[in-house]
Amino acid sequence: MELVNSTWPEADAAGTSLAVLPVGSTEQHGPHAVLGTDVFTAGAVARAGIEESDRDPVLGPTIPVGIAAEHREFAGTLWVSEDTFRAYVRETCESLLAHGWDRIVLVNGHGGNVAALRELCGTISRSGEGYAVPFTWFDAVDAADISGEAIEMGHGGPVETSVLEHLGGEHVRPAEYDRAAAGAAERWGDWQSGVNLAYDSSEFSESGVVGDPREGSAELGAALLDAAAESLAALLDTVARRERPD
Ligand SMILES: [Zn+2]
Repeated sequence: MELVNSTWPEADAAGTSLAVLPVGSTEQHGPHAVLGTDVFTAGAVARAGIEESDRDPVLGPTIPVGIAAEHREFAGTLWVSEDTFRAYVRETCESLLAHGWDRIVLVNGHGGNVAALRELCGTISRSGEGYAVPFTWFDAVDAADISGEAIEMGHGGPVETSVLEHLGGEHVRPAEYDRAAAGAAERWGDWQSGVNLAYDSSEFSESGVVGDPREGSAELGAALLDAAAESLAALLDTVARRERPD
């Protein structure tokens, strides 16, 4: 049951303690992929995982703005501070708990949100009020294994571009793929002695991209989404059954 498309009596009748909350980001993904990439991928993985699952969790709205100051040099990127993000997402979860949906899986689409989500889910779980875990979809799939190529996550690279192509053409601009690749970095960051010297993606990527979007395909996107959905469905089942710590 998707909350934004339901009435309060329908929500009241949801016979579950399980909730899914997608978390995205509105940020540059190169000249070829839309700013809402992480919003669309997180929402798509959440829906596909629920579809794949025998559980029938409540689905919350996708959080649209995250921790993304690292992309601030590129037009259209939005961000909030880590403190604001942690408080906002935690309080959103607390309102889910108040309605009895006290087992929450956050489906995340953005790397910059990972540490804060882990922290806030720990805070919720240690409070004894509920149990929450973050699921970052691209950490749950092995793109190299699925594609048979040496493909890494990157940023606006083949993994995300493939999923966007699968979701529908309006999310990508194929005419810009060459420009995206020409200005892309091969890896995230600027490294010395195990330290990433760069704070912003503009310091190491001219187009904002890491990886080559031309290595992706809609078929790969479908396979990645299937794998993420299967992984999320297994997690939903485990979270629904897991004994809560005292
Ligand atoms: Zn992304």
